[in-house]
Amino acid sequence: MYIRIAEVTKINSEDKLIETTIGPISYDHLVLAQGATTSFFGLENIEKYSQPMKSVIEALEILNTILHNLEDSLVNKDLDRVDELSNIVIVGGGATGVELAGALAEMKRYVLPKDYPELDCSRIRIILLEASSRVLGGLSEISSVKAEKFLTKLGVEVVKNTQVVDYNGTTIFLKDKEPIKTRTLIWAAGIKGNIISGLSNDINTRSLRITVDEFHRVKGYKDIYALGDIACMITDSTPYGHPQVAQVAIQSARNLATNLINEKSGKPLIRFKYFDWGTMATVGRNKAVVDLKFIKFQGVLAWFTWMFIHLRSIFGVKNKILILINWIWSYITYDQSLRITFLPKDFRLRR
Ligand SMILES: Cc1cc2nc3c(=O)[nH]c(=O)nc-3n(C[C@H](O)[C@H](O)[C@H](O)COP(=O)(O)OP(=O)(O)OC[C@H]3O[C@@H](n4cnc5c(N)ncnc54)[C@H](O)[C@@H]3O)c2cc1C
Repeated sequence: MYIRIAEVTKINSEDKLIETTIGPISYDHLVLAQGATTSFFGLENIEKYSQPMKSVIEALEILNTILHNLEDSLVNKDLDRVDELSNIVIVGGGATGVELAGALAEMKRYVLPKDYPELDCSRIRIILLEASSRVLGGLSEISSVKAEKFLTKLGVEVVKNTQVVDYNGTTIFLKDKEPIKTRTLIWAAGIKGNIISGLSNDINTRSLRITVDEFHRVKGYKDIYALGDIACMITDSTPYGHPQVAQVAIQSARNLATNLINEKSGKPLIRFKYFDWGTMATVGRNKAVVDLKFIKFQGVLAWFTWMFIHLRSIFGVKNKILILINWIWSYITYDQSLRITFLPKDFRLRR
C-alpha cells in the first residue's frame, strides 16, 4: 500500500487516470471518499463572514474568535459594541449545533468566570437558531424535546422556526424576526459533497453527493466507487441515502473491500446493508440523548453511554487512557488543564 498526501483535482475515467497536485496517477479501481464540506446555500455574505465547523482547524478558529472577541469586549466602553462582541450565534440545530451550544454554555458557566474574573458573563448570550420546529430533527421527538430542555437549562436561547437570510459581519438578518447583533456567527446548517471535476454532473444529488448503487458503484462508470459522506445510495428504504455519519462510512468501506476481493476471486458480490447502531448527542455534563433501535434514554446514563462509545473509538490504548484521565480531570475540576490560542504571526486585536 502506498500513501500520498495530495489533492485530487480531476478524474479522467476514460484513461483511468486521476490528476493530482503531485502529478497524474493511474488506477485500476478508483474509490472516492472525499467527504463533505459546509454548504452556505448560496448565501454569499454568510460564507464570507460566518465561521463553519467542519474541521479541527475551523473549530480552533471559532475558539480563537470567541476568546478574542471577549478580550476586546473587556476594553470597550460602548455597551452595544460589548454585546456585539459577546453574543455568540449558532445556526443549525443538528448534532453539531446542539453539541457546540451546550459546550459554549458550559464554558460560559464554568471556565470564563475563572479565566476572566472581570468579565460580566451575564452579557454573553448563546443563541441557537434552527429553521425547523425542533432541534436534533434526525432523532426521536422525545430526544429533541429533552435536548432542548437541557440547552435551555444551560442558558442557551433556542430559537426555532427561524431562518437566517443575511449577515454583514456584525448583524444577522432573520426572516420575519428582529435582527441580532453579533460578531460570532457559527454556521452549522448545511452540508454538501466535495466535488472533484471530471465526472458527469448527472450523478450528483442536489446536495452534491455522488449517486451509487448498492455495491457502491458510481452510476454509469466502470471501476469507480464512492463511499462515506460523498456517496448517496438511494434505495426504497433509503430514499435520501444513508445519514452522513462515521458508521455508514466505516461499514461501507468494509463492504466495498470485501466486494473488491470477491470480484477478484470470482465470488458473488454482497449488497450493502447498513446496520444502524443508533444515534446520540451530548449537550453537556451529565446531559446527553441516546436513540437506540429498541430503547431511547436521556440524561446521566445517556451521557456515560456517549463517553464510553466515543472512548472506544479513540485510536490506541495509550490515547484511550490519556483521554479518559483528561475527562476525569475535567469532570472533577470543571476546567481544562490547557489554554492555547493559535494566532498568525502578525495578529493584532481588533477593537
Ligand atoms: C463537527 C462534526 C461532528 C461530527 N460528529 C459525528 C459523530 O459524533 N458521530 C458520527 O458518526 N459522525 C460524526 N460526524 C460525521 C463524520 O465525521 C463523517 O460522517 C465521516 O467523517 C465521513 O467520513 P468520510 O471518510 O466519508 O469523509 P471525511 O472524514 O470528511 O474524509 C474526507 C477526506 O477527504 C479529503 N479530501 C476532500 N477533497 C479532496 C480532494 N479533492 N483530494 C484529496 N483529498 C480530499 C478531506 O480533506 C478529508 O480528509 C461529525 C462531523 C462533523 C463535521
